[in-house]
Amino acid sequence: MAGILEGKVALITGAGSGIGRATAKIFAREGAHLMIIDVAAVAAQETLEAVRQLGAKALCLKADVSNAAEVEAAVARTVSEFGRLDCAFNNAGIEGEPALTHKCSEANWNRVLAINLTGVWLCMKAEIAQMLKQGQGGAIVNTSSVAGIAGAIGGPAYVASKHGVAGLTRAAALEYGRYKIRVNAVCPGPIRTPMLARLMQFTKDAEDRMVRSEPLKRLGEPEEIGETVAWLCSDRASFVTGLPMPVDGGFFAQ
Ligand code: NAP
Repeated sequence: MAGILEGKVALITGAGSGIGRATAKIFAREGAHLMIIDVAAVAAQETLEAVRQLGAKALCLKADVSNAAEVEAAVARTVSEFGRLDCAFNNAGIEGEPALTHKCSEANWNRVLAINLTGVWLCMKAEIAQMLKQGQGGAIVNTSSVAGIAGAIGGPAYVASKHGVAGLTRAAALEYGRYKIRVNAVCPGPIRTPMLARLMQFTKDAEDRMVRSEPLKRLGEPEEIGETVAWLCSDRASFVTGLPMPVDGGFFAQ
């Protein structure tokens, strides 16, 4: 049976680790051609090898999503290699340094906003321009967070950046719906990735506490975000746009 992304050309950022890597593998399984983007070159190469083993036509490129020229070059390379761009998962992000609002340094604030929010906007800008040129629509998914819907303590720049991603997603969905470009976001709860491992080291019993606060009583796995992103990018989600979608083990049902 054909995959739900059969023959689609997709670009994924932050694809060298965690959620991005798991999603790249699921896109490969579902038949997509892939442009793997990460600032970490070796990690991107490892993901490339994994998706090629799954049979995907794929390339990888080291690029920093906060650098407009690198983002534009990544989209241009995707098109020169695969002929077009159908889907994008703008997922690269950093947690920044833990600090309360009055202790957050300007450098930390600027870095987190530059990667998590400006980076998503720069990616969308280049991707949407290409999709408009093609004239056949497209699907974009951005990575926000449960911290893009509700507040969280100790990461004001992260929370602000992820709320920004949710807003940008809604705005672009309104602007480009008439061109058949759908724009959604995933808002993950705590997902077992290297980023979460780094965050958990700052709090005693962090994993136990997170698990207790989840109705499903466990952490999420990166593949559970990847499956959602694959569906949102596929034609099966053809009437879904402008949605920052919690994938949170039921956290927001409480
Ligand atoms: P991760 O394991 O740290 O993976 C993120 C990847 O993005 C890393 O390979 C990282 O490279 C790369 N990256 C960082 N800055 C970049 C840049 N400027 N340009 C291109 N690539 C860059 O994190 P993850 O947990 O998979 O997180 C993926 C996304 O999900 C992030 O946006 C995160 O905020 C969001 N999220 C995660 C969770 C969670 O619980 N894990 C929950 C909600 C939302 P380096 O390793 O070299 O930095």
